[in-house]
Amino acid sequence: MRRLLVTLFAGLIIPATLPAQADSTRDSIIVRLVARLDLERYKATIKGLTAFGDRRQGTDRNRAAVDWIEAQLRSSGCSNVARLKYDYQPQPPNQGPRQTRDTSRASSGGRYRGIRARTGVNTDSLKQPDARVRALDAQASTPGAREEVYCTKIGDTHPDEMYIVGGHMDGIGWGEAANDDGSGTALVMELARVLSSPDVRTDRSIRFVLWNNEETGLNGSRAYVDQRRALQGTKDEPKWLGMIQHDMMLFDHGMPRADGTLSPDQRPEADVNIEFQSSAKFAAEAQQLAWVFQRANEKYATDYPASVGSHMTNTDSAPFQDLVPAISLRESERGTQIGAGWDPNWHQPTDLYATYHDADFRLGLNAAQTTLAALAGLTGATLK
Ligand SMILES: [Zn+2]
Repeated sequence: MRRLLVTLFAGLIIPATLPAQADSTRDSIIVRLVARLDLERYKATIKGLTAFGDRRQGTDRNRAAVDWIEAQLRSSGCSNVARLKYDYQPQPPNQGPRQTRDTSRASSGGRYRGIRARTGVNTDSLKQPDARVRALDAQASTPGAREEVYCTKIGDTHPDEMYIVGGHMDGIGWGEAANDDGSGTALVMELARVLSSPDVRTDRSIRFVLWNNEETGLNGSRAYVDQRRALQGTKDEPKWLGMIQHDMMLFDHGMPRADGTLSPDQRPEADVNIEFQSSAKFAAEAQQLAWVFQRANEKYATDYPASVGSHMTNTDSAPFQDLVPAISLRESERGTQIGAGWDPNWHQPTDLYATYHDADFRLGLNAAQTTLAALAGLTGATLK
């Protein structure tokens, strides 16, 4: 309120401050939109997803989760819903000579520093002590037909151009995939809710996509790119302006200690890591987009800052990175930090809703605030 009065006052005296006034109107719209995100709602959406266990691709629990997500999107007003269909056949195990990778370097270019702890994927059901979760995750995956759901907020003045906002809804590891990637899926669903409110209009379109088969090698996002990239500019597919992926948004407890254990608490200096890939064809534009998000975080996120890095990897934005500016948001850098064991629940039976505290969930909420604020600016959001 004080800011509004100051702006009005300044505007009355010096007409040259009119652009600042326009800025302040846009600011207040973004502040009001960001205020529509809520920690308890975000937590409730993550909890809802964990009712389907790890949501592993090719299972009944995965299909039921896709149906549930679709129902949630519709009920929150993102009624322009569709599904992408594709077929998934796992690759036979490689029988040739094993490729060795330089394990002193992080995936996709980063450099490890300090202490590293083990990472891996749990495939042992008996490592899940909770019989309820073990039963929930029991059905094995079968190859074949797959579906993933998306909905679209149609822009008013440039409906034929869109930003793609994604998270992957499948998981692995005999837990509840609460963080990987219930936290990213719920973030996308919450943004779809806020931006689909009847009083919100945007110039450009926004597509909210919940990828399937991320954990098997980005098959769901690759299928989308394969099927739809050539349709861009037709009535069936708006032109892609950028791709923003969200994966593992909650846990930033710092580097492992010398004994391999981690702090039980979110570190106070936790941050949202915005990454682009410096070797991508659209690296320069992706970097620009990353800084737009960093600035949006600085201005509008309530608790945690954001950092920009150049080693985006192992994420659904990768299939897009040579076609459009593509970035990802995470709790930590994927290569040098998560890859060095900074998240002990990653693909483990401990990735349960009950594992996380409010300080963890709040980091995910701050990532949601960041993306919402950046998108509102990029798409020219206004409130009726
Ligand atoms: Zn993930």
